[in-house]
Amino acid sequence: MALLGAFLCCLLAAWHASPGLGLPLAPAVGGCPARAAGQFWHVTDLHLDPTYHITDDHTKVCASSKGANASNPGPFGDVLCDSPYQLIMSAFDFIKNSGQEASFMIWTGDSPPHVPVPELSTDTVIKVITNMTTTVQNLFPNLQVFPALGNHDYWPQDQLPIATSKVYNAVAKLWKPWLDEEAISTLSTGGFYSQKVTCNPNLRIISLNTNLYYGPNIVTLNKTDPANQFEWLEKTLNSSQQNKEKVYIIAHVPVGYLPFSSGIPAMRQYYNEKLIDIFRRYSSVIAGQFYGHTHRDSIMVLSDEKGSPVSSVFVAPAVTPVKGVLQRETNNPGVRLFRYEPGDYTLSDMLQYYLNLTEANLKGESNWKLEYVLTQTYGIEDLQPQSLYGLAKQFSMLGSQQFTKYYNYFFVSYDSSAICDKKCKALQICAIMNLDHISYVDCLKQYYIKNNN
Ligand SMILES: [Zn+2]
Ligand SMILES: [Zn+2]
Repeated sequence: MALLGAFLCCLLAAWHASPGLGLPLAPAVGGCPARAAGQFWHVTDLHLDPTYHITDDHTKVCASSKGANASNPGPFGDVLCDSPYQLIMSAFDFIKNSGQEASFMIWTGDSPPHVPVPELSTDTVIKVITNMTTTVQNLFPNLQVFPALGNHDYWPQDQLPIATSKVYNAVAKLWKPWLDEEAISTLSTGGFYSQKVTCNPNLRIISLNTNLYYGPNIVTLNKTDPANQFEWLEKTLNSSQQNKEKVYIIAHVPVGYLPFSSGIPAMRQYYNEKLIDIFRRYSSVIAGQFYGHTHRDSIMVLSDEKGSPVSSVFVAPAVTPVKGVLQRETNNPGVRLFRYEPGDYTLSDMLQYYLNLTEANLKGESNWKLEYVLTQTYGIEDLQPQSLYGLAKQFSMLGSQQFTKYYNYFFVSYDSSAICDKKCKALQICAIMNLDHISYVDCLKQYYIKNNN
């Protein structure tokens, strides 16, 4: 309990020290960049740890190391800790001063730290989300931001409910400057919404609460359509189709299979199959899908039942660099910029930026850099499903240099010596190319037969 007390004390101190708290909400969104801008930012998994501080006792640097010695703590963080406020500020400062004009930003959840459940509460979770929201609103008063809730944006973590709750109501209030009345209403009852992009006519963001489908969520066990989100999603996509809109799907927990463990979809299999079915049927409306949660940089290509690529899926790496004590690899902090055709919202490119954490801590300054430009690094035309499918085919070749690059970017250039052996590569390739159960299992079988004869 003493530890809990100390944690809460630091939490409160950090909140009061953070800029933006207590100030009025940002003014209404306005001032769109030139129509030709065709760019938006994607940030995810901030995981603020307000207890982070430099001290000689490395077990006490951050609550998120859970008593383990921080490995090499500096002003921008440590790989055994969630993000210090300074790391998150450096990411947003970089975005603000990058010189890139964006029409909007997507923010796919997970603001609170990875700490044992008793060390947080509904109030502390809401305070962390408030801190992050006001930080964004103060830095980008004229930018429309589309948030999605993450499995950590709730207390107890993962247990996001199927009806209204304190957290849903709190975020509905916080995110009001970016959303219209209907969006606020579904957000406060089910944690999801759809919203037109102010700067882009005919573009709609659908922000799903895929935490309802996440394995550890016991609230939704045996529920066929938690919070009636599937029904709502179909209805929303259908009306977008009628109105000739294009849709970007955003959510925290991604569809498809985890690229680093065998046979496990990121969400419960039943829900994954349901979503895949809907996304296939509405693939002509959906111009892209964007997720977080795994903390790694990965792509997926959804194919239809006949095996033709129909939808491009992007999982963005986290801002937090945190890893478990036993894990060898983690990710450097990352944020990304997507480019799209302003006419039809098809995705043309993605620029991944990152912070070399070791270097930043050594120098005592954050030097966010471009890590890669997707089309340039792989020599592909654009980010259309057909192009990504072709790239995935190249990855699958024996000794593919393209895949070596991909695997280094997977960890946001944290460890270029990381080796992906035969099994590791099979899991990666099958996860990139197969999002439904039947084709995924078939892929793993095929891959083993091909590579073991
Ligand atoms: Zn996360
Ligand atoms: Zn998560």
